[in-house]
This record gives sequence, structure tokens and C-alpha cells, in this order.
Amino acid sequence: MTYVPVIGLEVHLQLATRSKIFCGCATTFGAAANSQVCPVCLGFPGVLPVLNRKVLALGIRTALALGCRIEPTIVFHRKNYFYPDLPKDFQISQYDLPLGRSGSVEVGERRIRVHRVHLEEDAGKLIHKEGEDASLVDFNRSGMPLLEIVSEPDLASPEEAQAYLKTLKAILQYLEVSDCDMEKGSLRCDTNVSLRRPSEELGTKVEVKNLNSFKSVGRALTHEIERQGKLLEAGEKVAQETRLFDDARGITLGMRSKEYAHDYRYFPEPDLVPFSLTEKEIEVIREELPELPAAKAKRFAASFGLTPADARGVTASRAAADYFEACVKAVAGAGLRPEPGTFKAIANWILGEIARVMNERNLEEITALQFSPGHLLELVQLVDSGKISHKMAKEVFAEVVKSGESPARHVQARNLAQVTDAGRIRESAQAVIQENPGAVEDFKKGKPRALMFLVGQLMRRTQGSASPALAQETLRELLKENKR
Ligand SMILES: [Zn+2]
Repeated sequence: MTYVPVIGLEVHLQLATRSKIFCGCATTFGAAANSQVCPVCLGFPGVLPVLNRKVLALGIRTALALGCRIEPTIVFHRKNYFYPDLPKDFQISQYDLPLGRSGSVEVGERRIRVHRVHLEEDAGKLIHKEGEDASLVDFNRSGMPLLEIVSEPDLASPEEAQAYLKTLKAILQYLEVSDCDMEKGSLRCDTNVSLRRPSEELGTKVEVKNLNSFKSVGRALTHEIERQGKLLEAGEKVAQETRLFDDARGITLGMRSKEYAHDYRYFPEPDLVPFSLTEKEIEVIREELPELPAAKAKRFAASFGLTPADARGVTASRAAADYFEACVKAVAGAGLRPEPGTFKAIANWILGEIARVMNERNLEEITALQFSPGHLLELVQLVDSGKISHKMAKEVFAEVVKSGESPARHVQARNLAQVTDAGRIRESAQAVIQENPGAVEDFKKGKPRALMFLVGQLMRRTQGSASPALAQETLRELLKENKR
């Protein structure tokens, strides 16, 4: 392709507070329409907004975690526009002085810059019912606290945009500033995308709205890059506009010509005076930041001998990282020596079989699985000690993850443990040799397949419970003795 995509993402995050940003109304999801409203969030004339202290704290917490510089003065602006879900005709937002600026997010090996982070209120929600000639409006969402996180146009592909969004979501979950539930709309995403020739600075950018899942971000960007590429190839111009992603059809549709900042007639919100936080107040919030995914991945690699890729995988969600650490504790609790091999096996299970089952069942978090860290350690130990093969361990896992039973008990109750008792295997091997003189003769003549046949016979005799490696070793030894 002769064009290079240039992508930026705007993420709207609903902050997890019990009340709205400028009034005391509740923020409970799924409440009856218009049951969580008051004159302030309905935008009655003459009402006075009051900033929710918790909203500010969560906003600063996020800005600091993303490495942003906090603005010395915090100012809210009125963003003026008309829409039926916005009765007061303006949204309280932030304009030239956002909460934080110039942060970044590490995505794999790349650093994606964060342009700005600012606070604003959400609007109400229009409900269009099929077959009805009118729309309904629910103002419960009006005044919900939002944090907007705007990236620089540093993303170069739909895959990278998705990876950035996933990393950002993980950081936000570590911070516990939002439930980040995309289905409930707690995490929403718009994107800016343009194409440029390698020699050009920038192309004309198009904004795509209404991206409600990682998948739709990928699909919308792929479609939009293709659409713009075709226009440019045909010598046409890309119009600067806002487009809407139609999830069902997988295409973007023109919505309106792009508005510019001056269209909104921003001016300082006169009912919320500018204010500042002291260095000390900011430091208090900074000190409370948890260990974030990138730092945790580095620590896991250094302390437990995980590869950088495995360490990143295990720390990609806070729940998985906590799970891994609980397994580490279980190793110490069981009085085992902390071997890198054990940690590697634990990580492999989390990123392999466990992730596969979670995916299959559409589970977001590892905690939703009926499989405790102690159970995982049992399974790893069963394999380590040679009691069961790795293949069998997968089968045991498939069973106990349904029943919640302990793997060790499951193996014991069903007599699944491999016979590693050398004496018992030797007895069976001797019997197999006596019963199969033909194969023994073949082996003596140097036919290697004869040995595999005898191993097969031994496995049959022990109903598959013998350790195959030990069975082969024992048979080989006995046959050699037999030769002499
Ligand atoms: Zn209210």
C-alpha cells in the first residue's frame, strides 16, 4: 500500500462514583428511566453545579498513572450545542486547560503518547423504538462523570489501535477508577483516522464514532482505511467529516461535516470558579497509585524468570496478575522450592488452557472460573511428579473446571495416576515379553517397531496407566538381558 494510516483514539470513560459529577443524583446502572434526575442534571435555569470531589480525585489518579502533567489551574468550560438529549444546550467540559497533558502508554515495545485527559459531564440518552414515530429520552445518564483520554495520532494500524485500547483498559482496571464495561457503555471510543503518503505530513482526517467493542474498533478502522485508500487511489479527496460505524453492516456512514472547536463557542463556566490543587494534594494521590501492568510485568520477569511476553500476558489483566501472585503464594505455602519451571508452568496454564476455556465461556475475568490458584498448583505438581502426563492434565482440567473438584482428588478418585512404580511395571513387562515371543524375536533381529508394539501391549495391560517413558525403558532393559 502506498498510504500510511495515522490513527488517534478518544476514549470516554465513565468514572465509578456513586453520584453524578455536578449533583447528588445516583449513578446506578439500569435504573428506571428518568428516576435518577434533579434540576441540576436536567439543566433547569438558575441551578448551580457543584464539582464532585471523588470525580476529581479519580480523574487526577488516572492522569497521574498515564504520566500526565497536572495543570496548575483547573477550569471548566461550557461547550455549546443543541441536541434533544441536552436540555440546557451546553455540556460542561474542559477546553484549553484540561486536567492533565503529555502522558503516555507503553504498548508492547512502543510508547503511545497521550495528548490530554479531561473531565466532562455525559448527556442524556435518546431511545429510538422500532416502529414508533417518536423517540424517548432518558436523562439518567445526564451528568454522569466522564473522563476523556485523547491519544496523539501515534497508532499505525487497526491492530495497534486495539492493542492500545486493551492496554489502556488494563491500566484503568488496575486503577479501579471505572468498571470499564464496554457493554454498559462505561468505556466508549471514537477514533480519528487519515491516510498519508510516506512523503506527506498528514492527510485529511475523518472521525468515526460509536465504537463499542475492541472488535468494532478493528473493523471500523479496517473499513475506513480501505474506503479512504480507494478514494485517494481514484484521485478524489477525503472529506473532513464525522462518520458513524454501523456495526451490523461493518461499514462507516457519513453523519455530519466535522465541526471545529470555534463552532462550540466555548467559554469559561461561570458557576464553577477556577481552582488549583497543591503539590501536596497531588502527591497524596500519586502515592496511592498501585503497581501498574508494565511495572508488574518487569517484576514478574525478574523475580519469577518469566519471558517478557509471558510476563506481559499474565499482567494484562489485574485479575490474572493477582491470580498468578496467589499461585506464587501457594507454592511457598505448600513448602515447595520456588523453581522457575513451576512459575513458567503456572504462566503457561493461565495463558493457555485457562484463557482458552474463559474465551469459550465468554468470561471476562479469571475469577469467574471455578478453579482456584491452589487447584492450578495441584495440577502443575501432578505433572511435575510424573503422576499424570501433560495430556492427561488437560483432560483433568476440562473436568474439574466444570465440577470445581480438586485436581488431586479427581485423579485419586478415578485412579488416573500413572503407574510409576518400577516394580509393577517390571512385572507387566516380563509378562508381555513371555506372551509375545514373535515380537521379541523381531526385536532381536533389530526391528525397532517391535519395541513399540511391546510398549503398546504393556500400556494395554495396565489400561494406559503406566508411564510410557518408564514402560519403554523397562522393556528395553529386559530385552537386552534376554539377548545375553
Ligand atoms: Zn441530578
